Order: sequence, then structure tokens, then C-alpha cells
Amino acid sequence: MTRRRAFAIVAGSAVLAFAGGSVRLAAQQVPPPPQSEISVSRSGVDLAALDRNANPCDDFYKFACGGWMTKHPAPPDQPRYGRFEELQNRNNEILRDILENAAKPGGAGTSAEMQKVGDYYASCMAEEEIEKKGTAPLAADLARVDAIKTKNDIPAVVGQMHTVGMTGFFGFGSAPDFKDATQYMLIYGQGGLGMPDRDYYFKEDANSAKLREAYVAHVARMLELGGTTATAAAAGAKTIMQIETALAKAALDRVAQRNPNNVYHKMSRDEVKKLMPNFNMSQYLERAEAPPGDSANVTEPDFMKAVDAVVAANSLADLKTYLRWHVVHSNAHMLPKRFVDENFNFYNKTLTGAQEQRPRWKRCVDAADADLGEALGKIYVERTFGTEGKTRTIEMVEGIEAALARDIDEISWMSPETKKAAVTKLRAVANKIGYPDRWRDYSSLRIARGDAYGNSQRSNLFGYRRQMAKIGKPVDKTEWLMTPPTVNAYYNPLENNINFPAGILQPPFFNRAADDAVNYGAAAAVVGHELSHGFDDQGRQFDAQGNLREWWTAADGKAFVERAACFDKQYSSYTAVGDVKLNGKLTMGENVADNGGLRLAWMALMERLKTKPLGQADGFSPQQRFFIGWAQMWCENKSPEIARLHAQTNPHSPGEYRTNGVVVNMPEFAQAFSCSAAAKMVAKEPVCRVW
Ligand SMILES: [Zn+2]
Repeated sequence: MTRRRAFAIVAGSAVLAFAGGSVRLAAQQVPPPPQSEISVSRSGVDLAALDRNANPCDDFYKFACGGWMTKHPAPPDQPRYGRFEELQNRNNEILRDILENAAKPGGAGTSAEMQKVGDYYASCMAEEEIEKKGTAPLAADLARVDAIKTKNDIPAVVGQMHTVGMTGFFGFGSAPDFKDATQYMLIYGQGGLGMPDRDYYFKEDANSAKLREAYVAHVARMLELGGTTATAAAAGAKTIMQIETALAKAALDRVAQRNPNNVYHKMSRDEVKKLMPNFNMSQYLERAEAPPGDSANVTEPDFMKAVDAVVAANSLADLKTYLRWHVVHSNAHMLPKRFVDENFNFYNKTLTGAQEQRPRWKRCVDAADADLGEALGKIYVERTFGTEGKTRTIEMVEGIEAALARDIDEISWMSPETKKAAVTKLRAVANKIGYPDRWRDYSSLRIARGDAYGNSQRSNLFGYRRQMAKIGKPVDKTEWLMTPPTVNAYYNPLENNINFPAGILQPPFFNRAADDAVNYGAAAAVVGHELSHGFDDQGRQFDAQGNLREWWTAADGKAFVERAACFDKQYSSYTAVGDVKLNGKLTMGENVADNGGLRLAWMALMERLKTKPLGQADGFSPQQRFFIGWAQMWCENKSPEIARLHAQTNPHSPGEYRTNGVVVNMPEFAQAFSCSAAAKMVAKEPVCRVW
């Protein structure tokens, strides 16, 4: 199931997550998770994951993960299977238990909120009922498109679609003003494409051409399922391909989007209207429930011009076909099996190499987490999150922040002036750990038992109205952009805070039974990674208050760019799959954060060992355990299809290079494992380093 969410936060990747895609993790307590599956020893090293036949100095990833990779082939419904997914599967069982209880009559107890969660899940699981309703739930949405009489009617229909989470033409929402991060403003972003990236529409290799063919066939089948005749659907799919290709050509690529200055264009309402003379913006804004107020960030003005040109150049009938497709596409996950299967066929099977659809309950757990995540998350936290996790995490965070302060003080390439501003930014970073202080109030959201389609749309509308209600209000830095059971973490440059959901503070990321060595290589390095995002190629452009502002001297900025370019060269030389290399520019921020994060964690551990020395354990020194802790977060197996998809769209490097690409830059690694100068994990050229 591909979930379609209302355009919410910011264009580009201004929110810097730790892993690609949200994955969730299980808890340690109730109900007892199958701990045997995570075979960590007392030291925290997963001994069964090791491949003792591999030489750590030649291929550290294979040494740390080879055993795990042999024992955990990717299951048919999960084309990428790593430690994140492994733990998510356990976590899913806990969430399933919470949801099934809440879905039973009387199972939600006295809480009206849990009743909603239970009703939502029960409705999503009621496949027979969904089957019986057929395309009836879709009828009103398609009728709205059918009723369009002139091009002037289009904007209001698009506005309505956006409010309930449907895609089409562009994205719309709210976000902090990049240059006054205390205030929210409206934001327009590029959108309306059914393929994962603009480049899919015109790359000339054989694989891309084949994917385009498969996409057109998929669009045709979806139109047909939505009630279009076979002949009209086949012709319509070609039209849609042509419209989306025109939009894709005007879209900013992922690398360009990484520069926040490229996606910040503050415009008045009149300026936006002038940008799109053929698209009645007043009607759009009214139907999209945009609050009054003048300025907006039009992230990609050229893209909006292209939308306008598409509206001008295409016939009314063709534009209606394009909207029909987005109506069916956006709602497929809550429609009968034939829609869900066809969606799976293209988005999972063709694009990611999945062999089987994930079981319904897993998809409904995901949907409940996406739509009612803080209601579900509250119960998850009650069941699983101990106070010790929070205390030790805060301790690690403080150690990492102290390490970065020392690092800034010691580096030779930065002037005292920039150093001072960097320390000011570092001191201002806020740490959010576990779960929100104030839970979201879902009381105005109506969930009706037996109405999966309507529940999904009303949940999207609820989320959308939350976004609109922020306009003109001060930025709420206590808000979380991930739900508590998420196995991930993020740095938000517009708020200058780092966020660690309860879900990631579990083995193998954080192991409360283990000593510091593995925990610093894993959890503390995650902390260091997120903190480094505040000082990567993107994050460094925002100041202590979250404003997009140059606070570096020109010479220091230049020195940073030169140092970061080393990572571009290093990672661009790595092969993702077949003839596809990694994109060193797309992955730069994550690579800077991985390298900086592990170094900061190393510095923090060395500082701690001075007062809390550790000895050998499980045959490894504390230094060795530290590096194994890092590597064992990245063990994974995946299909060639998903490796290709990620190389083009994911700002994170694959697990193998998140491991080997980082340790090769640390002479401390070679020392810990007594590697000879000729070994593969020992750099032959000067190593890359920013932090
Ligand atoms: Zn990251």
C-alpha cells in the first residue's frame, strides 16, 4: 500500500531523518517480545550476526553483518529487510495487540479516543465490507471531477482534493517561514507525479523505459477499475503520462532541492496569481480552506508556471482524465482488493521487487499509525517506555554535545568568528526524547465504524486543517513529526531540535543491559548523526533560531564546501547495484552526518572511558565493540529493484556504505582492529572529514 498523505511539512528534505522511510520497533516489556530473535550478548554485540570468516580489515560490514545476512533473507513481502524492519515487525505485533483489543466491543475501555482507534482499525480490516461496497465510496469524488464544465472549475476541485489528502498538480500546506522561523506560512510545493522521481519520466536507459511502460499500463488499469472503458483508459493513460512528463520536466531535482535557498521564494497572494494566470487561484484558495494572509513560500515557481502551462495547453477532457487518475490513485488503499492488488503490482512488485503483498493487518497498523499515531502512540508508550531509557539517552546527548563543542574548538579550518556562532547554535539545540509532552487532541475527528474510505479521508482532512490552523501562529517546537513507536530520529533545522522517538531507544540501537561501548557505537552515534545534521551542507545554512541566514564567514563556508566535496567523491564511487552508482550529492548530508556522528560518539566514549574504564567482553575490546555497534545497525538484505530505487531517491547510503564508508575515514578503526596499511578498510588517500 502506498500511503498518500496531505502535503504537510516542507518541500525538499528539510527534515532530516535517520533512516529512509519510517520504520518502527518493538518494546522490551509487554507482551514479551521474542528476544531470542535479537541475539545480543551481555556486551551488546550480536554475536550471531558476525561472520567470523570475514576479515574486519577487508570488509567490516561483512564481518559485522555477514551472519545476520545469511540468517535473514528478505521475506517475500519486504524487499528491503534490515535491523529497522526486523524490529518493526516485533513492534507491529504490539501495535496489533493494542488495536485488536480496542477494536473489540468494549475493548477500548472508557476512552472515547481509543474507541476511535479501535473503530478505525476494525473498519480498515473489514475487507468483506469494503469488497461489498465496491466503488461506491469513490463515486462522489469522481462525480466532482465529472461535473467540471470549464477550466475555471478545475481549481476548486483540486482544492477540495488537497484537503482530504488526494494528490494532483502541486502540494499545499504550512511550514515555518525559512527566514522567520518563529512564524508559520503557507507553502506550495511541486507534486502531482505518480512515479517516484522526476527523472523516471525521461531517463533514457532501458530500465527506465521499461518502468514507464509498466507505469502507463498501471494507470490504464486503475482508470478502468475506476469505471473508464478499456479503450478510453488506454488513451487516457498516455495523456496522463504526457501531462506528468511536462510537470516532471519543470520539477527541481532532488539535489537542487537540498539547497534551502533554491526552495524559498516568498510571494504575495497577487504574485502567486500572476504566476498562474490560467489557474483560478482565488477559487483554489477558498476551496482549500486557506486562511487569509498574504505571503506564502512558493518552493518552485517554475514548477507552478508549468502547472499553469499544462492547464492552458491541454483540453478540458484531458485535464479531467488526469484528475480522475489522481482520485483513484490516492484512495486505492481503502478500496476493494482489485485496486489494492493493482497498486501493489506497480508500486511494490515492479518498483521494489516485492513478491507478496504485506498482510492486511500490517497495512492497517501502518494506516492507524499514520492517521491516529499519537492516540495509538500514547498506549504504546505506557506499555513500553521505561524511565531508564530516557535518563541514559540524556546522558549520551550531553556527552555528544560536549564532544561537538570540543571538536569545533579544535578544528583548524574554521575562524574564531564562525566557531563562536557554531557554538551558539550548538547550545541552542533542544532535545526531545521519547514522546510529546502534550498529546494531539483528536476529539474533532469523526471515525465511523464500517467506513474505511471515509475514515481515511476525514483523518487526512483533520491533519490538513491542523496545518492550516497554524498559519499566523507562532511555531510550536514541541510538536513531533514522527510518532512514538517509530524506529527513526530526526533533526529539524527550522526548529534547531533533535528528536528521538521511544521506538528507536531499544536494541540493537540502545541496549539498557549492555555497557557503554556498543551503546555509544549505536545510540550515541545516532544522537551524533542528528546533531551533525545541524552542521551538514543543508543544516549549516540555518542559524541557532532556525532561520535561513548566512552565519559563516565566506572563507569558512568555502572551507566547508571543499571538505564536504571529499564525501561526494568518496560515495559517488560506490556501486548501488549493477551499473548504478550512489549519488554523492544526494547523499551528502547523510554521509556528513554519519561520519560526524560516529566521530562525536567516539570522542564521547573516549571521554567516558577515562572515568569508567571498560575491559574485554565477548572477545572484543571496548573500541572494537564500539565499531561493531555501529555496523550492526546497518545489516540488511534487499532486492536489486529497491537498491536501484533508493540510489535515485533516498538521501541515505545503503547499509554497506554507511558502515564501510565511515570506518575507512577513521584511523581509530584501523587501530582498534590492528589493520595493516594495505587493508581495504584503511584509506590510501587523505581521509574525508568535516566534523
Ligand atoms: Zn540523517
